[in-house]
Amino acid sequence: MKKIINAKRLVNGELKSCEVLIQGNKIHQIDSTLSEPAETIIDAQGHLLTPGLVDVHVHLREPGGEAKETIATGTQAAAKGGFTTVCAMPNTTPVPDSRDHLLALLDKIDQDAHVRVLPYASITTRQVGRELVDMETLSNLGAFAFTDDGVGVQSAGMMFEAMQQASKHGKAVVAHCEDNSLVYKGVSHHGEVSERLNLPGIPKVAESVQIARDVLLAEATGCHYHVCHVSTKESVRVIRDAKRAGIHVTAEVTPHHLVLNELDITEDDAMFKMNPPLRSKADQQALIEGLQDGTIDLIATDHAPHTEEEKSQGFVNSPFGITGFETAFPLLYTELVEKQIVTLGELVDWLTIKPSQTFGLSFGTLQEGAHADLTLIDLTAVKQVDRHSFVSKGKNSPFHGYKLKGWPVLTMVDGEIAFKEANYETARA
Ligand SMILES: [Zn+2]
Repeated sequence: MKKIINAKRLVNGELKSCEVLIQGNKIHQIDSTLSEPAETIIDAQGHLLTPGLVDVHVHLREPGGEAKETIATGTQAAAKGGFTTVCAMPNTTPVPDSRDHLLALLDKIDQDAHVRVLPYASITTRQVGRELVDMETLSNLGAFAFTDDGVGVQSAGMMFEAMQQASKHGKAVVAHCEDNSLVYKGVSHHGEVSERLNLPGIPKVAESVQIARDVLLAEATGCHYHVCHVSTKESVRVIRDAKRAGIHVTAEVTPHHLVLNELDITEDDAMFKMNPPLRSKADQQALIEGLQDGTIDLIATDHAPHTEEEKSQGFVNSPFGITGFETAFPLLYTELVEKQIVTLGELVDWLTIKPSQTFGLSFGTLQEGAHADLTLIDLTAVKQVDRHSFVSKGKNSPFHGYKLKGWPVLTMVDGEIAFKEANYETARA
């Protein structure tokens, strides 16, 4: 048995003292005080106890991209950020698009992962949009859901077939929405800043037009359709209308699209290059409103590590993507909760129970009998982000130098400590 004492948890939006008894990989008991003895005592020092954070959109890069990140380093970074379950995107080499590739990936996860990793399988073979994968086999092996993230599925016919198959096997189709015929080699949002910096722009309609197509395909097939990293106000409107029409569509937004907009890009700095790009201030506002009114269901980081060399080639030549695990919670807490835009309870829900419910997972909840996936967060700690100190191999963050409040100090996955701050004591009774 392990016991966490002196913790605070959120009950109906209020912080209440609590103690938690953990037996094996499960939460055995939660109460204001517990008299039962335990072999290991964790003194939470009054910090916030939340369910372990759940991130349904991450890039661990392995296999094939080990210079950027590995399953080991990526999940260490996840644990440091308070995440206990992460869903790994399939744009690796090879792509988990077959029985052998998925089995090899599951093996590697078994050996190396520091937190729970649920792997996506691709929608199409090698993610090139030509041939549908064998969804039945991949579902039976444990594919979390199906996605070609990194690229949009260009053909409506392919997406239609994918949704028919996925819904037959009870799986979601998760989509990076981007119509390639509308991208025009863009590297940033087509707008004020791309014009000022003379960068090729990606028009907003490249995203929203494909979401509009796909919600209709989801309606026709009855498939659960989940939209990755929504970035525009038109996308939010299409999803809102689709939900009102009773279509099974869900959506996520990243911390960076909630906190930044194109005006934060002041020079040709690839630390601000991601796909979808940072949009206008009006789009940023629409994303926050979409989250608040339930149009957008959850927050996912789109953790996308790259090497220093890759990211030092300027906006046009560097790859898309920024890291997210190690800044997500303090960034959102500082920029949204401390500024009273959202409540702490809302933020925790968008990072825990909402992603779990969206995909029918049993994680993300503080309950007796639930998995002992727990995160302790010091809401008073203020630290400056130093990208060079990341555990992730990817140091590509636009938040370097930000002074942020609310840092995870201990992360437990299935009753085992996956991360704790160096000075955070656990004692044997
Ligand atoms: Zn994507």
